[in-house]
Amino acid sequence: MADRPDLFRRLRDLPVVGRAADWGLGPSAVPKNTKRAGSRIAGLKATESVCPYCAVGCGQIVYTREGELVDIEGNPRSPINQGTLCPKGAACRYAAAAASRCCGIRRHRSSSRDVLRPN
Ligand code: SF4
Repeated sequence: MADRPDLFRRLRDLPVVGRAADWGLGPSAVPKNTKRAGSRIAGLKATESVCPYCAVGCGQIVYTREGELVDIEGNPRSPINQGTLCPKGAACRYAAAAASRCCGIRRHRSSSRDVLRPN
């Protein structure tokens, strides 16, 4: 017995049955408002990056408009995550845009009390 996707593909290849199977699917199923709105990332600059959260190092695509961060999504070209991101990686955009985010260099002031002394 053919597996389901193969059976469906063969059904779609049939002249009349294939058109009926496509009814309501594919490009014809896209509402007019969605077609009119277009892609949400059209015209944006795409930059490949790496998720900063953990050591997995998932690939990301960072979309910007005139230097302003618009969206972050998984990079399908990354062999590590193949276009997917976990919830933390998918939320990177909000961490980068947080008002409380530290954008400068912070140094730890050491004092004589911080120096480790042998017992
Ligand atoms: S997307 Fe998730 S798993 Fe991948 S590097 Fe970021 S935090 Fe780690």
